[in-house]
Amino acid sequence: MAVSDAPRRADLDKCVHCGLCLNACPTYRELGVEMDSPRGRIYQMVQVANGAPITEAYQEHIDLCLACRGCETACPSGVKYGRLIEAARADIERRTRRPIAARIIRKLVFDYLLPSRTLLQFAGGGLWLYQRSGVQRLLRASGILKKIGKLGEVESLAPSVETPFFYRYMGRVFPAQGERKHRVALLSGCIANLCFARLNEATVRVLQANGCEVTIHSGQTCCGALHVHAGLRESARKLARKNIDALADAAFDAILTNAGGCGSTLKEYDELLEHDPAYAERARRFVGLMKDVNEFLASIDLNPRMGKVREVVTYQDSCHLAHGQRVRSAPRELLRQVPGLTLKEMPMSDLCCGSAGIYNIVHTDMALALLEKKMQAVNSTRADRIVTANPGCMLQLRAGVERHGHGQRVSHVVEVLDEAYRTGGQTV
Ligand code: SF4
Ligand code: SF4
Repeated sequence: MAVSDAPRRADLDKCVHCGLCLNACPTYRELGVEMDSPRGRIYQMVQVANGAPITEAYQEHIDLCLACRGCETACPSGVKYGRLIEAARADIERRTRRPIAARIIRKLVFDYLLPSRTLLQFAGGGLWLYQRSGVQRLLRASGILKKIGKLGEVESLAPSVETPFFYRYMGRVFPAQGERKHRVALLSGCIANLCFARLNEATVRVLQANGCEVTIHSGQTCCGALHVHAGLRESARKLARKNIDALADAAFDAILTNAGGCGSTLKEYDELLEHDPAYAERARRFVGLMKDVNEFLASIDLNPRMGKVREVVTYQDSCHLAHGQRVRSAPRELLRQVPGLTLKEMPMSDLCCGSAGIYNIVHTDMALALLEKKMQAVNSTRADRIVTANPGCMLQLRAGVERHGHGQRVSHVVEVLDEAYRTGGQTV
């Protein structure tokens, strides 16, 4: 059955054009241009829905949106902006034709690389060689990268590969420490298996320390979040079906992710597959089990046997955790339970840092401008460490510390908990 992925009239009609979302929009705050605000973008979507052509200008304004969903939280009328922007991008994808080179690159990345464990490991190996053989150091020291403009900027934002890759744990079941209280599955991501292998390991340890038996199911694949944000909803549906086949019918108390960006899409599999009779019901079951790891840990009696972490930290909300999933207090509650730790809030902690999936690679200038402002907010707290709940934000904030920071560490919430359990003698 053909599915129309264009913005729905009922969703568009909810916007009353009040403008109360404008101040929450990073691109509007940066540019002051109505067409780069949520209200302006919705206005343009309405024009297209009424029959206006998809112009290059329309595509640019829709493309420049971070899909951070800050406007969704700010909107008093309940406009589902995330759904609108994803649908607008899917509509553009279906009705326009990109240049051949862009089509080939997108096909290779989205349909071949991200869903393939083999290709990702191959790419990770290549990146590891570049980063560890001295070539990267040489190129950076030579200043060549700075001279080649955008490519140099992109290179500076590229993640570091962490060996051994987390893929080695596929199919493993980690026992609970002490009495088993919960059976959970951990979705370890796609690129995160290469670049956040240590974070995934820390997540497993923290869950084990909290009485969880943790399964890393070998049938899992990329969640499809990057695909959805790029308007490639059919490709995302294929990945969603694979994850549902692997996990929806198994006897888990919860399916977990440590990535706010992935969690938001995983929790919306029911919308993605609502017109698929074979998967709609199973997608709802999957979504019912899906939880962010912060949300899960804050919902159980947290193992209190933690050692002290004597630091002042500030928490940067992951947009897709705060605005997409409405999870704001759970990470803060967890941090407040760590002995010795002081949490100091930064101004506008839920304003996007500019990471937004691959946005910082595609719209590097805007991403870096947003990052500079974010680091001003971070620096104003004088915190020793920035804590967040999404690997993409961690990468962006690390780049921010290098450019504008004072040597702050950047960690995920579960890494802080892991440290506390280690110093408290709770290692597994
Ligand atoms: S999205 Fe919501 S807050 Fe923004 S203009 Fe429309 S109704 Fe107002
Ligand atoms: S999703 Fe973010 S960048 Fe896009 S319109 Fe909303 S607030 Fe602005």
